[in-house]
Amino acid sequence: MTHVVFRDDDVDEVSDQFLAYRDLMKKYEMPVTYAVIPGRTSPSSAQKLKSLKTAKDVFVQHGWMHTNHGTDTQKAEFGMREPEIEQQEILAGYAKMKDLFADDFLPVFVPPYHAYTQHTWHAAQEAGCKGFSAKKGQPVWAGMRSLPAHILFDIYRDGKHSFLSAQTALRQFLFLRKRPFVIFLTHHKNIDSYERTELEKVLRFLSQLKMRGKVTFCSFGDLLQ
Ligand SMILES: [Zn+2]
Repeated sequence: MTHVVFRDDDVDEVSDQFLAYRDLMKKYEMPVTYAVIPGRTSPSSAQKLKSLKTAKDVFVQHGWMHTNHGTDTQKAEFGMREPEIEQQEILAGYAKMKDLFADDFLPVFVPPYHAYTQHTWHAAQEAGCKGFSAKKGQPVWAGMRSLPAHILFDIYRDGKHSFLSAQTALRQFLFLRKRPFVIFLTHHKNIDSYERTELEKVLRFLSQLKMRGKVTFCSFGDLLQ
């Protein structure tokens, strides 16, 4: 049975868009693994996020401030600067995530823009992370579970943003569904009415597969066990 997982990135303050996203996922009983930007998340926001979470939702560590230190075409928060500076940011992010989310923090590192090097991987591991989640087809090393996003709803081409249609997302899913797990990646901040309609079609289809015993809905917490 395939484990279906949703990772939602760039979580910081609780916005109307966040609430709409969370309600949609809750309607289909899809747990969410939220990648939180620790440097931009206040204690009161973390409190709110924790109070809104469903039983299986978890919070993982995204980039410290989600600042682009790369170029416009090759964005990167990690993998571009002195390894010591990046290591300090990963340590600070880990400590703040523990402080803000306590037991609801799952120690997995998600590098912004899927950009990282071997130094980033080892810094996350040394900080205490048990998993690392970028996107599929990128390098991995030993010591942590690799949890790559397989299906990316957001597409950036020539500086323009678009969202996968439900048809394309499901075609990608059906191609991958022999795998033990398939990770979908969303950014709730990019989800308005069209995106919501397409996402809901995907969730409805996945729910039908779940009812037929073909898939199960999980979070990163289940994959790390
Ligand atoms: Zn991000």
